[in-house]
Amino acid sequence: MTFDFDLPDNLAQCQLSPAPQTRPRVGIIGGGVAGATVALRLAQQGHVDVVLMEKGPSLVNGPPMCHLHAGGNLYREISDAQCLKLLQQSIDTLKLYPHVANVRPTVIAVPTRDGGDPQALLPRLQRVQAAYAELVAADPENRVLGDPEHYYRLFDRDAMMALRDAPLPERPATPEQWMIPLAKTLDFDRVQWPLVLVQEYGLSLFRLAASAELELARHPQVRVMTHTALTDVRPQGAGWALHCRHRGEEQVVGVDYLVNACGYRTGELDDKLGEPRQRLVEFKAAYLAFWPEAQGHWPEVIFHGQRGTPEGMAQLTPYGRGLFQLHGMTEGITLFRQGLVASGARSAQPKLDPRFERKIQWGWEPEVVQSRSENAIAHLSHFLPGFASARPGGPPLFGAQQIPGTDPSLRAADVSFGRHRYARTEIVKASSALTAANAIVDALAREGWAAGPDERPQPPLSRQAVVQKAVALAQARNYPDALAIPTG
Ligand SMILES: Cc1cc2nc3c(=O)[nH]c(=O)nc-3n(C[C@H](O)[C@H](O)[C@H](O)COP(=O)(O)OP(=O)(O)OC[C@H]3O[C@@H](n4cnc5c(N)ncnc54)[C@H](O)[C@@H]3O)c2cc1C
Repeated sequence: MTFDFDLPDNLAQCQLSPAPQTRPRVGIIGGGVAGATVALRLAQQGHVDVVLMEKGPSLVNGPPMCHLHAGGNLYREISDAQCLKLLQQSIDTLKLYPHVANVRPTVIAVPTRDGGDPQALLPRLQRVQAAYAELVAADPENRVLGDPEHYYRLFDRDAMMALRDAPLPERPATPEQWMIPLAKTLDFDRVQWPLVLVQEYGLSLFRLAASAELELARHPQVRVMTHTALTDVRPQGAGWALHCRHRGEEQVVGVDYLVNACGYRTGELDDKLGEPRQRLVEFKAAYLAFWPEAQGHWPEVIFHGQRGTPEGMAQLTPYGRGLFQLHGMTEGITLFRQGLVASGARSAQPKLDPRFERKIQWGWEPEVVQSRSENAIAHLSHFLPGFASARPGGPPLFGAQQIPGTDPSLRAADVSFGRHRYARTEIVKASSALTAANAIVDALAREGWAAGPDERPQPPLSRQAVVQKAVALAQARNYPDALAIPTG
């Protein structure tokens, strides 16, 4: 199976034709996690035909993702309501895409140099834990983050000291065992106590891309058109005529309903339709480090810090074979001066500085990759001195992220609707894609296009098939295989 196909026969026939005769047709522009998930939900419902246009060569090919955010504990600054929403959305996401989680806990530390207090994290953790317990009580299939009773656990200095000399297990099976590699490496004087271990798992970008591609290939009513850029859109009957360039050839496709899932370029289509909208766009990057001395299976480790200052949050995300992904919320690492831009009165599309557009289109200068990766390693080594021996481990993971509205700290957002048969996904986190998709299913039902129980439930994809496809995608995009292979 390949998605790199030419325009299918039934689409060629529909060019310039009024949209559908028998079943409504939905056009989705953008094959990131949002567009792919909308296509999948519509396919599961079975009542509409779907055309998914993606200008890149494969699906889920945009900015990276490595945290599932099941509980939002990485973000001290967001509301409890957002955390609870992210919890619910993450659980639903794991039920839709069962092979995408890297099942290992996250450790949250408040640095000594930080003005925060670890005790301040506890009320929220308790609230999220109680909400998770309720979700599991309502439906045992929600138990995808382990036992709610063990959603989080605190470790004081003595407990960590006792783990320093403990042997590393073959496979960690208890919270204590997960903490052993950290206990052996952490500078105990650089953090406040206690540390929090929480069941926030990792999210595999490549297994999500693989799952989306393999799932959509099972639904004949979805046409996935990669290498296809939307160039213009015009009203046609009660729907839309989508003008696109497919491998250099101009095409027109008629649809009844239009979904804009263009990620950080959502505003370009808003502008073409004359739909005003306020949004932010932020360019950011994460880095890869190879640390051959790493011992044992690591949890994710987060050191809180004030965003945008030299002491911004540091994040260590473990993969296999000594590979780690690093974020540092400083302007020398993940963030960039002038990397956050807002839309204006005349355009819904925030304008990124050309140097960021160049990076997105053409890649990075090797010396910038080297220096920012080294900055990231140094940022983590402040807390984990042994990590200083790590070396840059591959190309950066980067891109621009849209945030609807004007609040740059918003993390849980999903969809908004235009004036006529038009929806735009506006997710900030991957786990919100399903909420956006479900809202669009409901909107179509309001158009009279029935939503009902899944028409043709499919057996789950095999884990092996997903991993195999994910490895192939990682290789095609020049990233190490380790990013595609399950950890934990
Ligand atoms: C450094 C960084 C780290 C991140 N980490 C996480 C994380 O750990 N967890 C998490 O959940 N989220 C994370 N995010 C956010 C996450 O990557 C985004 O929220 C998510 O990718 C948005 O998905 P999307 O489908 O809306 O947009 P995108 O993934 O950007 O997809 C939009 C697609 O539309 C296509 N497109 C645009 N215009 C056209 C057109 N005219 N015609 C055809 N196709 C078009 C693009 O090619 C693209 O493939 C991170 C973001 C960054 C930048």
